[in-house]
Amino acid sequence: MEYVDLRSDTVTKPTPEMREAMAKAEVGDDVYMDDPTINALQEKAADMLGKEDSLFVPSGTMGNLLALLVHCQRGDEAIMGDKSHIYLNEAGGSAALGGIHPHPLKNQTDGTLLLDEIRAAIQTEDVHHTITRLICLENTQNVCGGVPLSADYMRAVGQLARENQLALHVDGARIFNAAAALKVSVKDLVAPADSVMFCLSKGLVAPVGSMLVGTKKFINRARHLRKMLGGGMRQAGILAAAGLISLDQMTTRLEQDHIRAQKLFDGLKEARGLILNEPPMLTNMVYFDLTDDVKLSLQQIVDEMKKRGVLVDWAGPRKFRLVTHYWVDDAGVEKALQAMKEVISL
Ligand SMILES: *Cc1c(COP(=O)(O)O)cnc(C)c1O
Repeated sequence: MEYVDLRSDTVTKPTPEMREAMAKAEVGDDVYMDDPTINALQEKAADMLGKEDSLFVPSGTMGNLLALLVHCQRGDEAIMGDKSHIYLNEAGGSAALGGIHPHPLKNQTDGTLLLDEIRAAIQTEDVHHTITRLICLENTQNVCGGVPLSADYMRAVGQLARENQLALHVDGARIFNAAAALKVSVKDLVAPADSVMFCLSKGLVAPVGSMLVGTKKFINRARHLRKMLGGGMRQAGILAAAGLISLDQMTTRLEQDHIRAQKLFDGLKEARGLILNEPPMLTNMVYFDLTDDVKLSLQQIVDEMKKRGVLVDWAGPRKFRLVTHYWVDDAGVEKALQAMKEVISL
């Protein structure tokens, strides 16, 4: 059976063109910085985001961890959202490995942190306090519905950071989705950030890898720490070859995923038994909660959907998240809608 896989955009397998580019990639030892394909990818990523340099890393989690380790010393504090991936879903790496103290602030329903709450969270000089070094934003904000944070908001937080001698790191796992939805260039969107991580392995369809972007000095330090963490890969140009296709071709087609997510949203909104999460702007995710009218358990829904050729995954006690991506076409959206309407009325 050919499944429509809506569990995540991480399930995207490489395209035939990617596989061909991977097979033919020129490679070298990247720890010697000798891999021409990785060097090309790093140059292109830095250029597209308007920063001096970038680093290919095995995962988004490692990219974020490196950023926190470079910006903060042990005992320093990083301000971040209480629904952020760094706070919730990276195994507490920055605390465990960097001794970095997270200061979570409430993510608003539009994904933002309130500027006043950020201001109030910045520690004063006092022997009792930690030293605040860093603000982390997530764009798009996944748990709040894949909602993009606007360029104006990013600028406001950037200014607040500079006024207080703090760095701003953006977990931009899906920053190209944000830029596409907001219809701004990714360069403008991340201009206020000192560092940005984005994933090649999600909506951009590459099999593996993320990019960390920032100043030359920042990236040099991150490269050192990447080696320390065991992320110094050798002939990884085979992976970077797919990443180059991501940057060339996949960054410009994300609107299609957003249109399909909107179709899913509109279709599910008609269905009884579901309460749709309505973020101010949709990207490639649709979150919804089940009402008490739905009698099936989460696992039963997953199983029944699978029988109908659609893979879904839950995101909370009565909550589902559906994600559109390159391998979900219009027919897939229709199939998923049909199946979901059937299953929730079982
Ligand atoms: C997926 C994700 C990451 C981490 O990426 P991995 O490659 O899975 O480690 C970081 N932040 C957000 C918002 C993500 O969705």
